[in-house]
Amino acid sequence: MSLRDRLIERIARDGPLSVADYMDACLHDPQDGYYAVRPGLGAAGDFITAPHVSQMFGELIGLWAASVWTDLGQPAKVRLVELGPGDGTLMSDLLRAGRAAPGFLAAAEVWLVETSAPLRERQKAALGDHPIRWASRLEEIPTDRPIILIANEFLDCLPIRQAAWEGERWRERMIGLDDSGALVFSASPKPLGLRLPEADEAWGVFEWSDALTDFGRKIGVLIARASGAALFIDYGRDRPEYGDTLQALRGHAKEGVFDNPGHADLTAHVDFPAFAEAARAAGARGSAIRTQGNFLRALGIEARADALIRANPESTARIGRQLCRLIDPEAMGELFKAVCLHSAGLNPPGFEAP
Ligand code: SAH
Repeated sequence: MSLRDRLIERIARDGPLSVADYMDACLHDPQDGYYAVRPGLGAAGDFITAPHVSQMFGELIGLWAASVWTDLGQPAKVRLVELGPGDGTLMSDLLRAGRAAPGFLAAAEVWLVETSAPLRERQKAALGDHPIRWASRLEEIPTDRPIILIANEFLDCLPIRQAAWEGERWRERMIGLDDSGALVFSASPKPLGLRLPEADEAWGVFEWSDALTDFGRKIGVLIARASGAALFIDYGRDRPEYGDTLQALRGHAKEGVFDNPGHADLTAHVDFPAFAEAARAAGARGSAIRTQGNFLRALGIEARADALIRANPESTARIGRQLCRLIDPEAMGELFKAVCLHSAGLNPPGFEAP
């Protein structure tokens, strides 16, 4: 039975699903979830991410990680953890650039937190030479050593919930069935016990994510116990905003979120302030939330692009396009944000006041 048919049966039996339950099933259903069965990362698949746009992205994050290691006092052993490493491109570029810091790679014990079996295979193929450990959950990472953690486009997969404004009150936006038995958005009959933040335009749809704040808390605890720094880059907001950001992507195009359950990537904008606040409340220090453009510029992406162009003059136009895509406000530069949760006394690069 297809995932759609099973979801329809479940709703007919148990009532409407929250958006979070729907996302979770579409992404992780063991028989038919997108990441469990058919994750389509890369040019030939459904979507590409910053590491696929240019090697510069992973290289700068490699230098960032090496710099945090230096700031930690160059411990003989450090856990280098990536959450949701996709096809392994980011870690592979990071490790290559990390060679520039003598001793860093020898100290780094690499851990990948990944639930997707097909993606673990791709990571194994991409990172063949380097010893790797896999975990399915953050809680499996031991905390008896400092940690340097990175995650690109991981938080946007965490399930969100939505509320819709109904003229007089907010109700949770659920997923039910229409008269013909097809999936549709429906309003929960129960009033919503949420205090919504003030924003310039408080109307339409409001999103929140218990999964995101729970995860923020776990990151805060991890950093407080192990010491170190955790870098998160993703698309999302740096202040309260209203609007429906749930998005399905298949074959590099947006489609309706009910069009192909389990066959499309399903993500939403990350609420960075809520995530960082949860991590802070659990014991980590939080950096400012910066745009990806400002973060990468502060790490020296323009100088890196110049160096690549000098070494490959025939690729000047291509490298220029890649740089624009990563840092231009019209492309990924402003929609994508970066934040770092870290232990006291560290000054992770890229987050100094501009
Ligand atoms: N970071 C990569 C891939 C982003 S796609 C890149 O930038 O290209 C999202 C990644 O997160 C995939 O590897 C997916 O399998 C993983 N993922 C999604 N939800 C997860 C969860 N709950 N736990 C662990 N990994 C998860």
